[in-house]
Amino acid sequence: MKHEIVITAQGHKGTMERLQNEFAAVKLWEAPDRAAALKAAAHIRALAHFGHSRVDGELMDSLPKLEIVSNFGVGVDQIDLEAAKKRRIIVTNTPNVLNECVADCAMSLLLNTLRRFPRSEEHLRSGFWATRGPYPLTTSLGGKVLGVLGLGRIGEAIATRAQAFGMKIRYHNRNRKNVPYDYDPDLVTLAKNSDVLMIVTPGGAATAKLVGAEVLDALGPRGYVVNVARGSVVDEMVLLRYLQEKKIAGAGLDVFEHEPSVPAGFFTLDNAVLYPHVASATVETRKAMGDLQVENLHLHFAGKPVKTPISA
Ligand code: NDP
Repeated sequence: MKHEIVITAQGHKGTMERLQNEFAAVKLWEAPDRAAALKAAAHIRALAHFGHSRVDGELMDSLPKLEIVSNFGVGVDQIDLEAAKKRRIIVTNTPNVLNECVADCAMSLLLNTLRRFPRSEEHLRSGFWATRGPYPLTTSLGGKVLGVLGLGRIGEAIATRAQAFGMKIRYHNRNRKNVPYDYDPDLVTLAKNSDVLMIVTPGGAATAKLVGAEVLDALGPRGYVVNVARGSVVDEMVLLRYLQEKKIAGAGLDVFEHEPSVPAGFFTLDNAVLYPHVASATVETRKAMGDLQVENLHLHFAGKPVKTPISA
């Protein structure tokens, strides 16, 4: 007999196949009557979660036998960890397996924002190289200071790469780490000391709008922002205004506050590089994330400790 699970949303194809082959799965998003589907699933002990919909106390209460929420992704800002803790529900995520791909994406945003490679390619494709001459000069990475907000697993992978590009690294976390980089005890000081502010904290209430006017003012008109964390960490409308008014030099963004909706003002910016949340989106990494999500479920059903639990 296969163990039963509830799946919240349509997710990564290979992982969906595994979940449906290896477990008896209730597909919540396909249920014509969600309340009735949850009622029928009230005995189920495990939830596999994808995407941005909330896993809150109400959902947990409608699955009173729930023991584990296995999330696809390292960010768990959409899961109410306190509510899970109160109900002794284990929450797992998929850390580490995506560090390298997310760091590669961060470097690509960094390069494309400072060196303006997408714009220079447009210059060629539009025929301007022949008619208007060379593309204007851009900004080097070498010698610039990268200020990492959130030097965790991914932040460290980014710092390693940026060092290889000749950048100097500083960081701000709530807790100082034993790393060979300079620490700034507050975010405004980090922004003041940096040419590029690289945002890699978790999302959620604790980091909501951490990067607003005061931080952008500290970064200044020659400063850049790169965000591969969550759109919620930045005050998006303030960032848009600062980019429009050239109060900062530019931004590279993989994440937005209300994805997939992006405020229209961003589309017309000349000084921003915009990606549709693709940092972990490679065949290899998405498979590794799915394998970890599935493994955590199997371990739990086998009565063993899960591999990657989160503590609230
Ligand atoms: P980690 O937990 O390893 O690192 C997070 C870091 O942020 C820690 O060093 C932590 O240090 C710091 N931090 C947390 N809260 C604050 C705060 N309020 N102020 C300053 N620093 C803070 O996480 P990962 O590196 O694995 O992942 C980071 C985030 O990246 C994920 O939570 C996710 O949101 C995002 N992500 C985005 C992806 C994308 O596709 N764009 C893909 C994968 C992840 P301390 O606790 O000392 O403050």
